[in-house]
Amino acid sequence: MSNIDGLPPLREVIAAHGLSARKSLGQNFLMDLNLTARIARQAGDLAGSDILEIGPGPGGLTRALLHEGARKVLAVEKDARCLPILADIAAHYPHRLQVIEGDALDIDISGHLQAPVRVVANLPYNVGTELLIRWLTPRTWPPFWDSLTLMFQKEVAERIVAAPGSKAYGRLSILTQWRAEARIVMEISPQAFTPPPKVTSAVVHITRRTEMLHPANEATLTRVVATAFNQRRKMLRSSLKGLSADIEAILEQSGIAPTERAENVSIEGFCALARELDRRA
Ligand code: SAM
Repeated sequence: MSNIDGLPPLREVIAAHGLSARKSLGQNFLMDLNLTARIARQAGDLAGSDILEIGPGPGGLTRALLHEGARKVLAVEKDARCLPILADIAAHYPHRLQVIEGDALDIDISGHLQAPVRVVANLPYNVGTELLIRWLTPRTWPPFWDSLTLMFQKEVAERIVAAPGSKAYGRLSILTQWRAEARIVMEISPQAFTPPPKVTSAVVHITRRTEMLHPANEATLTRVVATAFNQRRKMLRSSLKGLSADIEAILEQSGIAPTERAENVSIEGFCALARELDRRA
């Protein structure tokens, strides 16, 4: 029996290739092509974009991206056992799927994709946050991508989109929202995966801003935010005192009460603080 895309069902493919999931590679596979199609559609205009997919595995999301009309998919997969399965998908969609075997943390994809580029991935949890941070902090802005549509553990997704005053608000929220707009577009229960992970997952859709939300030097902002959230329960006059002997005055000058805690300071506030520190440096 074939599927809506004319290829065999994923369960048959996985059984035929003896692809047992490996925990060390963060392998939790999505089996339902209706679900992967819904995820693919969250990415926006597929037909007019090249897609970078990290960790295609047996290709549930890859097939959906291609079936939904992606111009081209470049898929980076570390597990060589998946390559014959992906080769069958590539043959079904001539000239639209390119697979690179390797570690997404090492591979240089420049030259393989044409703008506009969208990144879509059910990321291996062990490298997901690291990849997100790299995509958000390239050497030059704008980055190579227009949007990122990524699956994370729900708790990480909540940190990415969190607003000031919430428990989840922190470095990842500020790093993301300073340069991009982020929202959770889907939640996915553990039962949708084989094998089921312990936690609920969520898909985050991130679109880049052309200009940063508020001006600031990236290195200073990163240092201030990291220092402030290192001791998030402390008042800023205490958690930031290592940054300057005049930290109370600097905070006041930036419009932030020295008794405030990091989790209540907006991105605008942190940017003002970074600018004031630089002005006095
Ligand atoms: N996309 C498939 C799906 O939705 O069913 C598989 C998702 S599974 C959570 C993560 C995939 O990433 C696995 O296929 C795994 O082999 C691959 N992977 C793990 N670490 C990787 C890395 N560093 N670089 C590239 N792929 C990696």
